[in-house]
Amino acid sequence: MDHFRYRGSELCAEDVPLSRIAREVGTPAFVYSSAAFEGRLSAFDRAFAGVPHLVCYSVKVASNLALLAKVARAGLGADIVSGGELFRALRAGIPAGKVVFSGVGKTAAEIAEALEAGIMMFNVESGPELDLISRIARDKGKRAPVALRVNPDVDPGTHPYVATGLKESKFGVPIGEALGLYARARDDAALEAVGLDCHIGSQLTSVSPFVAAVGRLKALLASLAGQGVKVRFLDLGGGLGITYDAETPPGPAEYAEEIVRAVGREDLVLVLEPGRVVAGNSCVLLVGVLYEKVTPEKRFVVTDGAMNDLIRPSLYGAFHGIVPVAENGGVPSPANVVGPVCESGDFLAKDRPLPPVGPGDLLAVRSAGAYGFSMSSNYNSRPRSAEVLVEGASFRVIRARETREDLIRGENI
Ligand SMILES: *Cc1c(COP(=O)(O)O)cnc(C)c1O
Repeated sequence: MDHFRYRGSELCAEDVPLSRIAREVGTPAFVYSSAAFEGRLSAFDRAFAGVPHLVCYSVKVASNLALLAKVARAGLGADIVSGGELFRALRAGIPAGKVVFSGVGKTAAEIAEALEAGIMMFNVESGPELDLISRIARDKGKRAPVALRVNPDVDPGTHPYVATGLKESKFGVPIGEALGLYARARDDAALEAVGLDCHIGSQLTSVSPFVAAVGRLKALLASLAGQGVKVRFLDLGGGLGITYDAETPPGPAEYAEEIVRAVGREDLVLVLEPGRVVAGNSCVLLVGVLYEKVTPEKRFVVTDGAMNDLIRPSLYGAFHGIVPVAENGGVPSPANVVGPVCESGDFLAKDRPLPPVGPGDLLAVRSAGAYGFSMSSNYNSRPRSAEVLVEGASFRVIRARETREDLIRGENI
């Protein structure tokens, strides 16, 4: 269900006209639909209702406390990749016991912090990391719950920057090395091997790579059992894709059904780390048109939103739907939608059919919820955008637009 729909000629988020948000909050602004976010989160969780499982929302995807508080209220957990994300998750009320910590570069300080907090498990990505976790746990007189993130070497068929489970990837340990590392964990009193983990990539539009990964993990589980290692958690990461343009990814129900069938065991707790599928289509980036600039070569629509606000088009060549907030019935013609940032790579769309627009008109950049605000930056000394949450007929600012003072906070002359 799309919660961003036209009422007459006016695009609304739930029951709030986007033009009202632009008037009161300004642009650019990330506008989230509460119903969309909660609906997708619970649909994903419900899809796995038939088996023991824990959904750990991937914090890096959209990290605002108001969104994480929804995750907490739904009784779900968090997948984190930094100490900063641990801080956010705990602050939002997600219990440490439902937090899994992934990432290839966990620092000693981050490991210590997570151990103190009492997280559910570390998804360990190398032998040296396993050693460091062991040393820190021993010093603290604790036992660290660990899973190995293995690299099953399956091709997710996605953008190279978000393919994470191929053998040349920096992520995870080669599946062939996992047995040795589990043996080390088994024989180390400061470690408890509680899980097995993988995360093969993002924006997958087919279930088959997930099923292939499950196959390799199951074979590994059998070998582990043979050497006396029995884990409780099977963490399959995130990665389920969404529709940006014409993609037709499986829905959560189909994804869950095939995964549950492939796993085929009731003695494991499945851990899932969805991100994009929850947040991606729950938000639009609302931008204002500054100029329409027509050269002999191109029609440019210059907006106040730019690559520092939404980097996905520049970074991945990603497609985001762009629609006018007020339909004017004009005949669309191709335009490059660009921002004010001083980079030729600063664009939100290229050769996109758009009706005539002028200064002050509003555009909605769709599917901006995942890796949108969380990847935004202050490049060109642009204050980061406001974040707004719509609930029915009301809305509130869940992150204030940054000020000039915010831009120089902590700097010294
Ligand atoms: C980014 C990430 C996710 C979320 O991926 P999506 O494609 O957004 O679902 C899950 N797990 C790990 C380890 C990640 O790095």
